[in-house]
Amino acid sequence: MRALTFLARRFVAGEDAAKAIEAVAKLNKKGLRATLDFLGEDTENEAQAAAAADEYTALLAAIHGAGVEANVSLKLTQFGLNLGPAVAKRHLGRVLEQAKRLKNFVRVDMEGSAWTQATLDLVLDAHKSYGNVGTVLQAMLRRTAGDVALLNKAGVRVRLCKGAYKEPADVAFPRKTEVNEAYDALARELLDSGPYPALATHDDGRIEAAIKHAKAKGIRSDRYEFQMLYGLRARRWAELTAAGYGMRVYVPYGTHWFPYFSRRLRERKENVLFIVRNMFRG
Ligand SMILES: Cc1cc2nc3c(=O)[nH]c(=O)nc-3n(C[C@H](O)[C@H](O)[C@H](O)COP(=O)(O)OP(=O)(O)OC[C@H]3O[C@@H](n4cnc5c(N)ncnc54)[C@H](O)[C@@H]3O)c2cc1C
Repeated sequence: MRALTFLARRFVAGEDAAKAIEAVAKLNKKGLRATLDFLGEDTENEAQAAAAADEYTALLAAIHGAGVEANVSLKLTQFGLNLGPAVAKRHLGRVLEQAKRLKNFVRVDMEGSAWTQATLDLVLDAHKSYGNVGTVLQAMLRRTAGDVALLNKAGVRVRLCKGAYKEPADVAFPRKTEVNEAYDALARELLDSGPYPALATHDDGRIEAAIKHAKAKGIRSDRYEFQMLYGLRARRWAELTAAGYGMRVYVPYGTHWFPYFSRRLRERKENVLFIVRNMFRG
């Protein structure tokens, strides 16, 4: 377990908010923005949901105090969505209130497809009351074109990703080529009609396709941003920043790192090779 904790450090900035903010300050110096994620999901009781909201409320204050360029990303099952939507709504509301007071923004991450509808319902509702909230859509899901249209119409900011959860074939495209095609089409739709879309991917094919479309349509590079995960493709972050594109790095912190870490290992064999190489290094 200790080895894994050490190895997880490639993907996780530290165990507490202070360490995570140090990492953000370093990114900011290189012209990179950040979104901070306090690791956690599938909360077991309301006390844990309340504690997660407390952490995010304090985190937003710490971001403000440190003067770093960062917003926050959170998961609704960490806020009690699995205990009922009213629980998640209550705790999310507290965080959105704080973010609004501090003129910051909250991104609600997207979890497995069992949570998609409930997440969108809560985000749309919260957006009406607070404004400063956006969410994530997953290109792998067959339903996503409809959700892009809905969120664009409501003026809700979308981060587009491929999707990190295992899904059945009736819900998600099973083949990578289909997911990539869907990603490109959805990115075009978001660039054309969405408020400040975030294109979250490490895949150069998707990045180049989005840039090509934006250029052809005369969409300026400050109307959207790219996002990547902490620990993955740092050189590419720098290249895109130098080329004049906004780049935000998703920076997770906390002790509940195992599910996040497992998703990173599952999606890419090179991430596993990195772990294996380090395990055999003295
Ligand atoms: C900022 C951010 C937020 C996210 N939020 C969510 C969320 O809320 N919900 C969710 O389900 N998922 C989320 N994800 C995860 C996402 O859904 C994917 O699981 C993950 O990003 C892997 O897909 P990919 O688009 O990077 O491409 P992949 O299909 O993993 O990779 C495609 C290609 O990209 C290139 N590539 C990828 N990694 C590397 C690397 N390390 N070095 C060199 N080349 C590389 C290679 O050419 C590779 O073949 C998020 C991802 C990011 C970046």
